[in-house]
Amino acid sequence: MTAVDLSLASPRTADLLARALDGDTLDAEEGATLDATTGADLDAVIAAADALRARHVGDVATYVTNRNINFTNACVKACRFCAFSRVQRSDEAYFLDEDEIVRRVEEAVSLGATEVCVQAGLSPRVDGGTYERLTRAIKRAAPRVHLHAFSPEEIKFGAALAGEPVRDFLARLRDAGLGSLPGTSAEILDDAVRDRLAPGRVTTDEWLEIIRAAHALGVPTTSTIMFGHLESPLARARHLALLRRVQRETGGFTEIVPLSFVHEEAPLFARGLLGDGYRPPSTDEIVRFHAVVRLMLSRDIPHVQASWVKVGLSLATRLLSAGCDDLGGTLINESISTSAGAGHGQLATPRELREAARAAGRLPRERDTLYRPVRDFGPTERDEDASPLDAVGADAARFGSFHALIHEEAHRHGRVALPQAARRNA
Ligand code: SF4
Repeated sequence: MTAVDLSLASPRTADLLARALDGDTLDAEEGATLDATTGADLDAVIAAADALRARHVGDVATYVTNRNINFTNACVKACRFCAFSRVQRSDEAYFLDEDEIVRRVEEAVSLGATEVCVQAGLSPRVDGGTYERLTRAIKRAAPRVHLHAFSPEEIKFGAALAGEPVRDFLARLRDAGLGSLPGTSAEILDDAVRDRLAPGRVTTDEWLEIIRAAHALGVPTTSTIMFGHLESPLARARHLALLRRVQRETGGFTEIVPLSFVHEEAPLFARGLLGDGYRPPSTDEIVRFHAVVRLMLSRDIPHVQASWVKVGLSLATRLLSAGCDDLGGTLINESISTSAGAGHGQLATPRELREAARAAGRLPRERDTLYRPVRDFGPTERDEDASPLDAVGADAARFGSFHALIHEEAHRHGRVALPQAARRNA
């Protein structure tokens, strides 16, 4: 591994980084200390994170060809950070039926997708059998596609509607063909902050119970953290330490995805709940936090994703030199960050992701959901045949968009009575 020059860093920072480079575990307080560095200390943090990335995952930068299907934005919850959801009576509440979901899956597979990511609001039109029926329909139509679906919040909702323990509900989904769970609904695993961010949201303990149950059933999950809202650096670092503890117990996390909070359209921001002095994380803070994630988790969760939907492809490229090794997915229909005002588009073509990898001095690799190589690429684009998705990338309108969908009469959610179990969950 390239030696990291720590000579310009302060003694405290140099000591923490030397320990991280030696494979020591940094605790939450130590992680928070590194998450407050500036100047030469910050440069050393970034260099050490980059060195750990090189040691643990080498010089490839990965991406997955996938499609998001957020099949409804109608939701019985009202998480204050969420700009995606609508109440069911809203003219902008939509619901994609099974035929449309399957059509989107088949189209994605025909364009080279190996994964579909299915997550949605907690719609009153969902019943205890919806998630299993959907899983079976998708796997029937595309048996080889990896179904990465249903957030812990949806699992809790579905299990309650089915009147089943979470474990049994998850086992049914696994047997129906569910491949993995998104480790979303985590935001920040600190109940005091969660109560301000999203009262009524799945609690930290519930999130952990669902994640552990999935891992025990052999269903891997991603892990996530949303930063840059109401949390402190210590809360962030504690969240990372908690994920590390779970990973050491179960080994079930495939990656960690730091998600920079998009505030523009979030109710939290619109209602002034972020405070008068709120400012979104600066570029330096975003880079620094990704580096801290690498320094705290590299040995346990070696894949750290740079989320282009949150920070844009240009900054995501820069993050590849600050501890990240993955660029996430092509997505095709990104809705969550788009609805929050991110403005980075709904689709990244495979070619754009390969270009980003090369711009960071890495070799691009298409991976599957579980980080198994699908295809390795060389240092230049020469002799590279395009993915089918490259050919249609410029015509993203053909896939539909969130802003068009919320105005389409054909997919209007309509009003339905809330089942008893959903009322308890609301
Ligand atoms: S984050 Fe999920 S559960 Fe919360 S309001 Fe948005 S769609 Fe609903």
